[in-house]
Amino acid sequence: MPVATKLASIDPATGEVIAEFEAAKPAGVRAAVERARRAQPKWGATPVKQRCRVLGQLAEILFRRRHEIAEIITREAGKPKMEALMAEVMVALDTAEYYRRRAARFLRDERVPHHNLAVKSKRGYLRHEPWGVVGIISPWNFPFSIPMTQVIPALVAGNAVVVKPSEFTPWSAMLVAELFAEAGLPESLLEIVPGDGIIGAALVEAGPDKIVFTGSVRTGRQVLEAASKRMIPCVLELGGKDAMLVLADADLEIASSAAVWGGFTNCGQACLSVERLYVEKQVADRFIALCVAKAKRLRLGSGLDPDAEMGPMIRPRQIEIVEEQLRDAVKRGAKIACGGKRRPDLGGYFFEPTVVVDVDHGMKVMQEETFGPVLAIQAVEDVEEAVERANDSSFGLAASVWTRNSRRGEEVARRLVAGAVMVNDVASYYGICEAPHGGRRNSGMGRTHSRLGLLEMVQVKYIDVERLPGVHKAWWYGYSRALLDAADAFLQMVFARPWGMRVRGIRGSLRAMFRGDRI
Ligand code: NDP
Repeated sequence: MPVATKLASIDPATGEVIAEFEAAKPAGVRAAVERARRAQPKWGATPVKQRCRVLGQLAEILFRRRHEIAEIITREAGKPKMEALMAEVMVALDTAEYYRRRAARFLRDERVPHHNLAVKSKRGYLRHEPWGVVGIISPWNFPFSIPMTQVIPALVAGNAVVVKPSEFTPWSAMLVAELFAEAGLPESLLEIVPGDGIIGAALVEAGPDKIVFTGSVRTGRQVLEAASKRMIPCVLELGGKDAMLVLADADLEIASSAAVWGGFTNCGQACLSVERLYVEKQVADRFIALCVAKAKRLRLGSGLDPDAEMGPMIRPRQIEIVEEQLRDAVKRGAKIACGGKRRPDLGGYFFEPTVVVDVDHGMKVMQEETFGPVLAIQAVEDVEEAVERANDSSFGLAASVWTRNSRRGEEVARRLVAGAVMVNDVASYYGICEAPHGGRRNSGMGRTHSRLGLLEMVQVKYIDVERLPGVHKAWWYGYSRALLDAADAFLQMVFARPWGMRVRGIRGSLRAMFRGDRI
């Protein structure tokens, strides 16, 4: 396949090209990784607190330019400006602030006290050292906050970074580089290589020291396979099929508002979208009626219109996936309670917010990621069935439980197979800096955001210092029967139950360990 030379940024609300960017070539990717590799050692040796100053500058710029940035994201990704401002700019701004304040504490050396008597003479500690060059490959659905929440901890941990953004949202990614440059980040520490999948593959081939990939399961597998040939460790943030469990005692008014927002925010194109709903049957009709009424009230339109609540989908291919899943569901007996159609009258790639009912577990809409504005609601006998269905999935990103009894909600939350479970809220933990983000099963491996996300950006080194450097170690050469007895006496002294058991001749045996005839 030929490598694209130009990348067009297309407004999905109109289908018009709004900007064009030079695409990187594979050789350019290799050069970017090499430049990053040369720049990194000096940055890695800079004290963390000094690196954090760049984040302070960045936060100021993000705040000052927040509306301009939000509007570019809205134009390129189609989301309402409200969502661009809160889920993209605010999340990036808060991430910069969070790591600016906490990174030095999270990264400082950590004492490792030894519990075993045999190694009490040693002092051990952990050091957190940067990987070197971190390759970040990101999708189009959160084209600003996803790279930002990964680039910020990668840089503050002392790495250099090369980002391959989605070919559909190059403008938002170029902004990331522009903002860091304005914040005073030294040259070559952050390189952006815009391009399509070939450029993503070239970045893996170029051999960064760590890869943080966000995208589909299919591409994630390809990245992991290519990375494994070079032993490059990966964090994979992949797809989701998040379940929402509505128990009979839930506040249905609130839960239905959450379902509609969780299913349709960003036009359903979020890894944390609410996609599958399991509702206890005694409240299912009322809950469905509320969801349908609220979905019908949503205002569709260009994200630049402050009153628009749902923008367009990113591109026609994404609409086709949604239509294919709905066709499959209807063919197998599901009913579309509202929506289900394109809206060409609005221009661009609009699709109606859709509620589909009478679904069953075997339908694609309950098994595969939809990534569009579809809520699929299934009535279940009881909470046991809800948990069983929710866990019977190849995904495990996040889920939510709705009940007026939070203790019961937490009990259910603990039983769900997911990287995160919210009780009486959906998806918003993505905006909580302290909350780790990442999945189980096909939803990926590793974590981003939070202290854990920062620790993904460093490798741990254990340093061990002997306090008695002039003494032979008991386990060194000079093996003999006496030494073997001494070793066994030591084991008995330390590990034999019950504690305090008398060991005959222990003193004499132990003396053998420290005799002078050792090698
Ligand atoms: P893709 O997997 O199609 O693409 C992700 C990135 O990988 C893009 O930059 C893409 O480039 C690039 N890419 C494509 N082929 C290769 C390759 N062979 N080697 C390396 N990189 C490659 O995902 P989408 O962009 O369509 O994003 C949607 C998906 O992302 C959904 O499944 C969603 O759930 C998931 N996602 C997960 C999140 C999480 O945190 N768990 C968050 C957000 C989204 P290009 O776009 O130019 O083809």
